This record gives sequence, C-alpha cells and structure tokens, in this order.
Amino acid sequence: MAFLEVRELSKSLLVDGNTFPILEDISFDVNDNEFVCIVGPSGSGKSTLLRMVAGLEKPSAGTVKFNGSAAERKVVVSMVFQSFALFPWLTVMENVCIGLEARNIPREESCGMARKYIDIVGLNGFEDAYPKELSGGMKQRVGIARSLAVKPDLLCMDEPFSALDVLTAQGLRDEVLTLWKDDEFPPSAVLMVTHNLEEAVYMADRVVIISQRPGRMVSNMHIDLPRPRERKSPEFLDWVDQIFSQIV
Ligand code: ADP
Ligand code: MG
Repeated sequence: MAFLEVRELSKSLLVDGNTFPILEDISFDVNDNEFVCIVGPSGSGKSTLLRMVAGLEKPSAGTVKFNGSAAERKVVVSMVFQSFALFPWLTVMENVCIGLEARNIPREESCGMARKYIDIVGLNGFEDAYPKELSGGMKQRVGIARSLAVKPDLLCMDEPFSALDVLTAQGLRDEVLTLWKDDEFPPSAVLMVTHNLEEAVYMADRVVIISQRPGRMVSNMHIDLPRPRERKSPEFLDWVDQIFSQIV
C-alpha cells in the first residue's frame, strides 16, 4: 500500500454558470521515503492539486488516501509556499511556533521544538527578528522550519525556491536534500510542485508531469540518477530534455 494514493482526482469551478475544468483524472502514488515532484506549465492546476492533497481544498471528484484510508486523515501535512506566507508582525520564533500552537501543543514544548528547527535551518540568533529584517532565503528558511516543526508525515512545497535568486535557491535546495537524507527530518515523503524542470530532476525520485489546463497526467517517471546529481552531466540533461519534450 502506498503512503499516499491520489486517484482520479478532478477539480472544476463554476464561473458565470459555466463549468471551468482545472484538473482532470489525476492518479499517482507517493511511497514512503519518496521525494515526488509535480511539474507542469503555469496555470495547469499544480497548486490546486497540492492544496487538495493537503486537505485545503475539496476535489470535485476522486480520492486522496493516506495509508489506504480516506475517511480519517490521521496524517499531518504541512506546506511551504513560494511567497513564504510569514506573519509580518510576528518574530521568527513566533512564526515557527504558530503551527505548533494551532495543534494545542503546550507553550514550553512548542518553544523547544521551534528552537530546534530554527537551529536546523541555520537561523539561530534570529529568533527575535521580524520577517522584514530577513533576506528572501532566510524567510524561506523560516517557512521550512515552521513546516518541519509540526513533524509532518507529508511535506508539501509549492514552488518553494521560485522567489529566490539563483544562488540562494541552489544553496537551499542542497540543504533541503541534506535534511531529507537525515534521520532528524520528520516527513515520510515530500511532494513538491515546480515549473523548473532542472529543479525537479535535481531533487526528485519521481516526477509527475501535468499538461496545460485542464491539467491531465502526461507521465509519471522514476528518475534513476544516482545522488548527489551532477547538473551538467549528459544523463541529467537527457532527463531534463525528456521531460521538456513531454510538456510542450
Ligand atoms: P498552477 O499552480 O499550475 O499555476 P493553479 O492551480 O494555481 O495552477 O490554477 C489552475 C487554473 O485554475 C488557473 O488557470 C487559475 O487561473 C485557475 N483558478 C484557480 N483557482 C481559481 C479560482 N478560485 N477562481 C478562478 N480560477 C481559478
Ligand atoms: Mg501554482
């Protein structure tokens, strides 16, 4: 049984009385210890798909099951956003604590956990800083710390590196991959949305390709490149080309 099963998931909206299809018939699995990327053109419904998996939006049809169960979501799913989604009036510490407090974890315990994940993402010393005092990369570290502190079973990330400059993005990708290999890193699996094909081939065990809107499954490919991956290697570039040719 797969950790996550997405089956025949569709989403449409009613716009001025007309049905506006966003996603149609999406099915894929995510196994334990798998890092899966969803790639597709802008507007293909990637964020909508991620929100449905995370339980933030209802599908029009189809199911999302964790460990075979759809009825009761016993799993913890957290989300990292492209825009960081930090509360500007809260400090780094308070931004990380907020997800824990929402889970009714006592303050002392939540502070300890928040501190641990602030350290893990390399922000110790910045606990009392406000988001406006941080660079983009540091803001996203707060976003990552916040989503890890709740010890998610599934970590969802929606274009988490897209708003960062090239060097910062690459540094943070490597740090996330290092954490992912570490036993301290809580999630069973990662589901990440990106429109950056190199990023998908660099990070993912498997890539799910979605077509232009309405998003349909184009392909589901296991990236069998050894890690750490060499972005200039012919095998790497072949993978990027292969995915690119399926998207356009
Ligand atoms: P992606 O993340 O792949 O760029 P989205 O999931 O954000 O795509 O959106 C898919 C499509 O659905 C887009 O064309 C977007 O404009 C449309 N869409 C999403 N949410 C809404 C909404 N609440 N109302 C109208 N259109 C929406
Ligand atoms: Mg999106």
